[in-house]
Amino acid sequence: MSNFTLIGATLADGSKANIAVKDGLIVSIGTETSGDSIDASGLVALPGFVDLHTHLREPGFEQSETVKTGSQAAAKGGYTAVHAMANTHPVADTAGVVEQVKALGDEAGYVQVQPIGAVTVGLDGKQLAELGAMADSKAQVRVFSDDGKCVHDPLLMRRALSYVKNFGGVIAQHAQEPRLTENSQMHEGAVSTELGLAGWPAVAEESIIARDVLLAEAAGSRIHICHLSTAGSVEIVRWAKARGIKVTAEVTPHHLLLTDELARSYDPVFKVNPPLRTQKDVTALREALIDGTIDIVATDHAPHPDESKDCEWNAAAFGMLGLETAASIAQSVLIDSGLSNWARFVEVMSSAPAAISGIPGQGRPLAVGEPANIALIDQSAKRVIHGGGASKSDNQPYEGMTLPGAVVHTIFRGAFTVRDGKLVERG
Ligand SMILES: [Zn+2]
Repeated sequence: MSNFTLIGATLADGSKANIAVKDGLIVSIGTETSGDSIDASGLVALPGFVDLHTHLREPGFEQSETVKTGSQAAAKGGYTAVHAMANTHPVADTAGVVEQVKALGDEAGYVQVQPIGAVTVGLDGKQLAELGAMADSKAQVRVFSDDGKCVHDPLLMRRALSYVKNFGGVIAQHAQEPRLTENSQMHEGAVSTELGLAGWPAVAEESIIARDVLLAEAAGSRIHICHLSTAGSVEIVRWAKARGIKVTAEVTPHHLLLTDELARSYDPVFKVNPPLRTQKDVTALREALIDGTIDIVATDHAPHPDESKDCEWNAAAFGMLGLETAASIAQSVLIDSGLSNWARFVEVMSSAPAAISGIPGQGRPLAVGEPANIALIDQSAKRVIHGGGASKSDNQPYEGMTLPGAVVHTIFRGAFTVRDGKLVERG
């Protein structure tokens, strides 16, 4: 179906309109119709979401996720683009691997898969990877990250920041001081002491962020901070922005909703890096997302097979799913709270992540002539979360919880990837 009209959709500003799509583009917004009519009354039409932080696991860890299954989960979550983290096997540290990941994304056809390149060879933190070759490759990499690991050597970080400036790139830092977090299992605080689990102190994140915003300032470069998790990190980013440092920051849906109290269950589904923090941190992160200190919501979707999670806490892998639940949590924080609006939702879920990475054709406003990348949400729906959805793994932390909102349709380059909540066969 290359020509259709979404009838009576609600736009982010609250107005209602018909959105006509033809040959992959939005051709009119208003009262006109063309092609097949699709009732969109009661649905909010938004630019397709863009995730800056997704672990698709392929190549190398296909028992957890593949580019195809991860893309399907993304489409069900309203996404039309995801950025695939580099901690695969082999690591995405060469032009060959990033081109392979991009090709797998194109083949799956559910979302635009934009590879992230590793900062250091093999994520070993010792030698810069071929950043220029990845930037010049068919994958056109602009975001580089050793995510899962911190680029902890300040000299390497400084060099990387300077180097990527040449082509408008950005380093995305997983801020975790390694010595302060050796064997860490959960947030360091009252609960970790009570449970006897080794703590991951807030200062291990905050000290790296403080260092890196100063390095970025000295280099005159952009830096992006992955998954802020503490109130102190928010304060540092707020200070850096006020100073004019080119820093952007993300928060995950789980850090906006869940706390370290959940570790009392000893259920490793709640084991994640950085760890779930305290209610005070959650409150600070929510405020920062609303006031613009934090720029985007990024999922850190991290699938793991049962054998990595159905074990005792200390042996379990870090990470949780996020693609199919992120929009619900963003809606809860920004809309249902009464504290913000759909315009801000569009920024944090679509336009700002696209701007940080410079990914073409994504994060664009719904307007005539723009690519038809659209998510349609039923704001009033209530969903009880069960199982892992389209992901190959099941490790989502919201089992049995009721979350607001549901993605009803996702349209990627003018074609339905999700229709009436169900995946459409592609390829
Ligand atoms: Zn990370």
